This record gives sequence, structure tokens and C-alpha cells, in this order.
Amino acid sequence: MNCKIETWLECVSCGKKYDLSEVRYNCTCGGILDVKRDLTKLDGEELKRTWEERWSLKRGKLASGVWRYKELIIDVPEEDIVTRQEGSTRLYDAGLAGKYAGLKNFLLKHEGENPTGSFKDRGMTCGATAAKIYGAKVVACASTGNTSASMASYAAVSGMDSIIFIPEGKIAYGKLAQALAYGGKTLQIEGNFDDAMALVQEVCEKLNIYLLNSINPFRIEGQKAIGFEVLHQLDWQVPDWFVIPGGNLGNNSALSKGLQELYELGIINKIPRIAVIQAEGAAPLSHMWKKHTPFEAVKNPDTIATAIKIGNPVSWEKSLRGLKWCNGVVEDVTEQEIMDAKAMVDAAGIGAEPASCCSVAGAKKLVDMGVIHPEETVVGILTGNILKDPDAVIGYHQDTLGKMGIKGTYSNRPKVIKPTLEAVKAAL
Ligand SMILES: *Cc1c(COP(=O)(O)O)cnc(C)c1O
Ligand SMILES: [Zn+2]
Repeated sequence: MNCKIETWLECVSCGKKYDLSEVRYNCTCGGILDVKRDLTKLDGEELKRTWEERWSLKRGKLASGVWRYKELIIDVPEEDIVTRQEGSTRLYDAGLAGKYAGLKNFLLKHEGENPTGSFKDRGMTCGATAAKIYGAKVVACASTGNTSASMASYAAVSGMDSIIFIPEGKIAYGKLAQALAYGGKTLQIEGNFDDAMALVQEVCEKLNIYLLNSINPFRIEGQKAIGFEVLHQLDWQVPDWFVIPGGNLGNNSALSKGLQELYELGIINKIPRIAVIQAEGAAPLSHMWKKHTPFEAVKNPDTIATAIKIGNPVSWEKSLRGLKWCNGVVEDVTEQEIMDAKAMVDAAGIGAEPASCCSVAGAKKLVDMGVIHPEETVVGILTGNILKDPDAVIGYHQDTLGKMGIKGTYSNRPKVIKPTLEAVKAAL
């Protein structure tokens, strides 16, 4: 891989460096890897000007909301880039969801507006580009759904085959539908996500297939663009907080890494705090954080927010490192809190899938706890589209999620009526 400025891989645990000539996901010590570049070769002011010019591009690869920032993604020749023009998602005023959380300045960055409906496209455009450059014919991932939907799409547009390992049991229908539709070879594993993750790593190593889970350091580079774009949309005025859901913990690792690079380049002059929010039934980082204990995987993770139903997150070390840098916090929320927050995000007219709404549930909890102040400016990341998981929406509004201990607190039930004007008047 040829980058314009010197770029290498570096072990998070021991600091060992590797050049980009060969495919690598782990250090010989077992640690995971970061993409690093020589930031002293870049000028912050010049970058801001370049990015501003690219913002107005109507077409072409650099009109992508990831490749707009390519100097801090991977600075490879344009012809090597695999893109679906991802990013350029909206930053909404949270409206009703802001009132619910008790915040005056609450913005929601809607990553569900990406080409396949989740932020995974930001990482995937970069991962798929790396796959192309390394000459991969086949790519694979383990997925709770959105990664597979995204990977299958990017493989299809760039002429690669894709193999998907999904856990048994419930995977949100919208996501499975996309993976199949885009032509991914889909293997359902008798086991949970963590089992699928372990298997796919072995398969990729033995069968020479390119791995596109977020252990792939290029995925993380692409996902940094969420933070770049939010700050660009705010004219580089730094919010007090980012609130973001945490599953495999790649996304918050990417956010802090990107912010750190902007800070080192002098593009931002203040460090925002990051709050990572996990679901109570899948909260290994939150346990470790609150109890000050060593990392321990959760055995049987469970939550209606299937995108974050992960007990053994690959990127927990990167995540912790980022949280320490930005004075961040970790919190977890209940199933009821997730779904009630979702009802508010949806009723605000914005809408997102369950995992995304941890951002709003977590913001509310942290305001109630006095950690976030009502006047602070907070950016919540909505990670996935409302249509990904229609069963969760209908279940909540029909109030049929009782088995999972969830009540339809703000349910909006459909009514069945006779086809007469009188019946309509009575119903209204
Ligand atoms: C993947 C995903 C997450 C979790 O992101 P991590 O990087 O695994 O922490 C959250 N929400 C949605 C919708 C996702 O698809
Ligand atoms: Zn190492």
C-alpha cells in the first residue's frame, strides 16, 4: 500500500511497528494494531481549507464524507478507493428527544443515513479499499447484522466475494435481508457473536481471506470521519460531549483517535468528553469501568439492541485508551431505558434502531446523575436506521415485548375500526 505520507501499523500493547506491505491484524505479541502516520508532515490550517473545498464537490470519490478527509484516513491514490459516497449525514436538533434527556443543546448525528443504513459504511469503505489494494478476492466478517450488510454491499460494488458469519438466534430482519440481497454467502453459526468472531479469525488466517471486522485497523480509520464531519458541521467549534453506543467498541475508539489527531494538528483546541453507553445485559466495559476490575468478557450477552449484543469486545483496549485521553465515562442502560429513549427519538420524527438509542438513554441517565449538565452541548451518535429492526418497533408499539421485560410506555397502537365516517370520528 502506497500512502502519500509515511503510514505504518503499530501495536497498541507493545508499540512494535509494521510497514503496510503485508496484511496484518495482530502483533506477534497478540495485541491489536493502529494505523499511524507522520502528523508533522501535515498542516492543520491547510487541511481545513482542502476539506472545505471538497465539501462542495457534487460527484467523484472525494465527495464522500469519508474520503473528503483522506489525508487522515489513508492517503492512497484516488483510483484505488472503493466508495459508495458514504457519510455526509445530517446533524439534527434532537427536539423531543432533547427535552426527554433534559438537555438544551442536544444534537443527533444520524449515521443511519449512510448507504446501507449504518455507520459501518464509513469503516467499510476504508476496509474494502485496503482489501482491493492487497489484492483480496474474498472478504469475510462476523456480524450482528450491520457489518455484514455493509460488507456485502461494498464487496458487490468492487467485485469481491463476501462470506458472512452470523450468530444463531435473532438477527434483525432488515440486516439479514440486506446481506442476502447484496449476495453475501451467509453462514449461520451455532453459537453467539463472540463464537462467530473467533471462528472468522481462524478461517481468514487459514483460507487466506481478507478479514473485515473492526479488528481490521483500516475500518477504524474510516470511522474516524464521523467525528471529523460533526466538527466540520459545527465549524470546528467543539461540543462538550459525544455520547455513543458501545458494542465491539470500535466506533468509540475511532472517535477518540480521530479527535486526538485533530487536536495534535491544532484543528481543534479543546478536548470533548466521550460517554460510551452499553446495554446492561452486554456491558463488559461498563462493569470494568465502574468496579475498577480487569477486563472480563460477559458470557451470555443479551439485549434487544442486537447491534451491541457482544460480550467479548475486540477493541476494549483502544476504547479505554481513548476514554482516558478525553476524560470520558462509561455507563449502561436497561432494556426499558433503551426502548423508551427510542420511542422519543422516533416520535421526534428522526428515528433510529434500538442500539443507536443508547446515545439518548445514556445522555438522559448522565444528566439525571449530574455528570452532564443541562446547558452543555452534547452530540449523540445515532448509529443505525429505524428500518433495520421493524420487529422491535412493532413489538414496542403493540406492547408485546413483555417476555423481555419491556413495556410499551409510549406506545402508539394502531386501531381497527369499521369503514365509516362515524367510526373515524369516534377513533379520533
Ligand atoms: C456496530 C453497531 C454498534 C456498535 O459499534 P461498535 O463499534 O461495535 O461499538 C452500535 N450501533 C449500531 C447500529 C451498530 O451497527
Ligand atoms: Zn505487540
